[in-house]
Amino acid sequence: MIPTPRSDLGVSKGYHSSQIDVRIRLNTNESPFPPPAELLERWSELVTKLPLNRYPDRHAIELCKDIARFHNVSSDMVFVANGSNEVLLNLLLSYGGKGAKALSFEPTYAMYETISRMTSTSYVALERDADFLIEARDLLQRVDEVDPEVIFLCQPNNPTGIIESDEILDILTDRGKSLIVVDEAYGQFCQESSIGRVNENENLVVVRTFSKIWALAGMRIGYCIANKEIIDVLWNVTLPYHLDMSKALLASLSFDYVPEMETRVSMLIHERERVSKELAVLGFTVWPSGTNFVLFRPNGVDGSKLWHRLVQEGILIRDWTSWPRLDNCLRVTIGTEYENDQFLAALSNVF
Ligand SMILES: *Cc1c(COP(=O)(O)O)cnc(C)c1O
Repeated sequence: MIPTPRSDLGVSKGYHSSQIDVRIRLNTNESPFPPPAELLERWSELVTKLPLNRYPDRHAIELCKDIARFHNVSSDMVFVANGSNEVLLNLLLSYGGKGAKALSFEPTYAMYETISRMTSTSYVALERDADFLIEARDLLQRVDEVDPEVIFLCQPNNPTGIIESDEILDILTDRGKSLIVVDEAYGQFCQESSIGRVNENENLVVVRTFSKIWALAGMRIGYCIANKEIIDVLWNVTLPYHLDMSKALLASLSFDYVPEMETRVSMLIHERERVSKELAVLGFTVWPSGTNFVLFRPNGVDGSKLWHRLVQEGILIRDWTSWPRLDNCLRVTIGTEYENDQFLAALSNVF
């Protein structure tokens, strides 16, 4: 007989995005461009020289130094893991757990709730307003009522794309309580970052990933920047040698290609604005985005049917229509100019 799994896991639907075979994939917010060819060449040459019979450096010291240099912080303020989801997991293993509460602002990244459940942390959702913004007026009171151990703020927010104002961050940090986790998975697409706040806010954690503009979603690398005391806890909680040598090397080498990354960011921002405008021309509601995706509501059309029709045309976007608070909403990841053209053409075809 197979034992019953832990009761507090619930009947988890988990986190999935459709992985159907289509011509054009605009559903998971990855980079549409592969990593620079020269980077991959250098990496594949160096990877053969790694002492793979040995365990890797337990604290990924070289990579942490490179990340620290990139963000102008000290390297004992950096923790690295297999994707930022694993960073989030380690944060909740360390600061969540039975009896602890994690709070976030819905609709937001579904993994905050999923990882809370995985770690027996109670998840409390506060509502955003009708424009998907967090209301400043009674924020302090609403957060105090919950008094959570951990607060997740996705900035800019997924799946809405919205950038929260500095005022919201000020209110949360000035409160001086809870672990405040600012998830900047899309940080490169907006001008602001909370990394500059970490030195003066000892309870602030900023999470970043190589999965989006760094074009390494397939490699699973993410990190966070926080006070050394928090970082030390994370290194103690995570499994020993969790980060393999080959990915640490690749991530380190990536920092030699910052100008290429920045060029892609500008291209994608330009395309994002173009796609947003075209969607608005069709009469859709389009939310302003500080990311590499756009959330829209196809007014007067059944979003789910529209999604299916696009799939028939070989174009996969993300269907959010049945999610709480996201009635009839669809989300399109910004691809290459060609991919976006194909998406827009298919859309006007079926519309
Ligand atoms: C894509 C994304 C991540 C990235 O997760 P990885 O595990 O690093 O691939 C994290 N947070 C948000 C909000 C995201 O959209």
